[in-house]
Amino acid sequence: MEAKLGLASAQELYRLSSQAVDLVRQRASTHNSVYGALPAGIVRNSWFDDSYRVKAGIDYMNQRFNTALEYWPRERVRETYLSPRYHDAVFNPNGYQIHSLNYANDCAVAAEQLGAVMHEQSPVRRLAKSGERHRVITADGEVTADNVVFCCSGYIGWLNHRLSWATLPIGTYVLLTEPLGDKLATAIRAPYAASDDRRIDNYYRPLPDTRLLWGGGMSISRRPANLAERMLEDLFGVYPQLHGIRAESAWAGTMGYARHRMPQIGRMAPGIWYNQGHGGHGLNTTTLGGELVAKAIAEDDRGYQAFAPFGLDFAGGPAGLVAAQLVYWSWKLRDLWDARRGA
Ligand SMILES: Cc1cc2nc3c(=O)[nH]c(=O)nc-3n(C[C@H](O)[C@H](O)[C@H](O)COP(=O)(O)OP(=O)(O)OC[C@H]3O[C@@H](n4cnc5c(N)ncnc54)[C@H](O)[C@@H]3O)c2cc1C
Repeated sequence: MEAKLGLASAQELYRLSSQAVDLVRQRASTHNSVYGALPAGIVRNSWFDDSYRVKAGIDYMNQRFNTALEYWPRERVRETYLSPRYHDAVFNPNGYQIHSLNYANDCAVAAEQLGAVMHEQSPVRRLAKSGERHRVITADGEVTADNVVFCCSGYIGWLNHRLSWATLPIGTYVLLTEPLGDKLATAIRAPYAASDDRRIDNYYRPLPDTRLLWGGGMSISRRPANLAERMLEDLFGVYPQLHGIRAESAWAGTMGYARHRMPQIGRMAPGIWYNQGHGGHGLNTTTLGGELVAKAIAEDDRGYQAFAPFGLDFAGGPAGLVAAQLVYWSWKLRDLWDARRGA
């Protein structure tokens, strides 16, 4: 980012994304989307035996981007995350966990209280011009609007060809285990959300009732066969001592990626906006994009132009599944290669 845009612009983008982290936390805490008892903090365990690189990364972020990242030596990691895969770690005291479904529902209720009208189960089939306005057409009805914001991300299909071609839909998967009781502490002895530093990482957290929410994997497959079994195998690869536990459920979600791996936020034509491509980022940039586009529409604010350097590059679109799978395999190979050479 710094090489592409210069330090000041990179810092500004980082500041915006951090602001959105705070905004999500604030919104979550005014509703019931927080797990009240869970302390703040996210741990990123290092898969690679290279403490120099981990420390240098922390120094770089703290000095240039005003973060407060902390270094966890491997002794500390071995006491809290008992995996033979991990070395040292980065602790981010400003990370936090929310109940994402409650959060989405709470946001919907808050929006309705402010006058928004929700239409569910009504996929948009197409858009058409109506003078200066836009008709949003579904199977059973339509809405005429001054402004339309596309935020369909990895689920966009062929709704808008320009956005569709700029989107790489990539599946990622979540497993929910049965309650693990005392067995949880044989593997995980910290209440934080955790991940690792591979390109294709695992992201997980123990829930207060000792179930483990385990995420990971990326592929073009939206409904892989035997997903629960495969996710359990993935989990046992990190925590072999948990062999024998069972899955409660498993599911897949699709994220939209841009080829440049930055969010795509902007205006395509008068009254036509987009906010997509948040794969690899998360709720913070998604929220940031919403704020920027809303401010642009309501106040003619130009803040969204900070994302102009990251345009709608051709990414293969929904038809580019082969390209997406190749990207996924290449990331996986690079993770393996880096792990073998220890960096
Ligand atoms: C398994 C998984 C785990 C994740 N974990 C985290 C995490 O721990 N932390 C984090 O910050 N982020 C996480 N994310 C990422 C986060 O979910 C995304 O950043 C966020 O959901 C992106 O929001 P979005 O609105 O851009 O797209 P989406 O949430 O994908 O929403 C797109 C919406 O558009 C709708 N849509 C599509 N086409 C049409 C149409 N034609 N008409 C009407 N509606 C349409 C879809 O139904 C969908 O509801 C995770 C994602 C996945 C899949």
